[in-house]
Amino acid sequence: MRFDGRAPGELRPINFKNDIAPNATGSTLIQWGDTQVICSVCIEDGVPRWMREQSVGGGWLTAEYSMLPYSTLNRKTRDIARGKIDGRSQEIQRLIGRALRAAVDLKKVGEKTIWIDCDVLQADGGTRTAAITGGFVALTLAFRNLMDSGKLLVNPIVEKIAAVSVGVVDGMALLDLPYKEDVEAEVDLNVVMTGSGEFVEIQGTGEKNTFPHNQLNKMLELVDPGIKKLIEAQEEALKR
Ligand code: UDP
Repeated sequence: MRFDGRAPGELRPINFKNDIAPNATGSTLIQWGDTQVICSVCIEDGVPRWMREQSVGGGWLTAEYSMLPYSTLNRKTRDIARGKIDGRSQEIQRLIGRALRAAVDLKKVGEKTIWIDCDVLQADGGTRTAAITGGFVALTLAFRNLMDSGKLLVNPIVEKIAAVSVGVVDGMALLDLPYKEDVEAEVDLNVVMTGSGEFVEIQGTGEKNTFPHNQLNKMLELVDPGIKKLIEAQEEALKR
């Protein structure tokens, strides 16, 4: 039994509050345990210069991630006040972009750039996995809104995407780590998967030590059913 009463393979409670940002094309507030992330999607005309220069057709999808100053226990200085983007945020926003590009056939988007903005309202571990899981819901809502208004004729979503963290704490594999477990974890793994059960990305680190193959397998055994539950929660949130 874990400190919060969960079984090793149990997710924290998850909830989505859709359309939280009315001016975005699609948005949701994902509340996952005590982690909350606002995920918004805005679509702009045009693509990055490298795409035009290399004659790459279709659209582009990119993400930005940041933690609001009051999302952490001690106030976190905004990047703009420090004059540079946090290395961790940069790493996370690239991961979110890669993860959600796997959801979309960019050829079907036209010459447009899809911005996924992820702002952490409350951080208690797993903010990157919440940003990806919530980002997918916001993206689906955005495309749905565009189709409903006749601005898009075909739905560019080709895969459902969700992400979850898993780790080893005191030698035991545990799914969906809150901060309290994350700081104690010997291994920290973030996994992005499709609804069809394939991997998009696996980010794993032996934080305190190296880790053997069978420990990786034990962690991955918890991930599959976890992702299935997350996909179900997304489907529920996307019911009309
Ligand atoms: N955290 C924090 N301040 C920071 C970075 C992280 O308080 O500047 C906390 C926060 O609760 C976060 C957790 O540490 O969710 C784990 O951070 P990590 O870098 O592993 O990313 P995450 O698990 O949020 O994807």
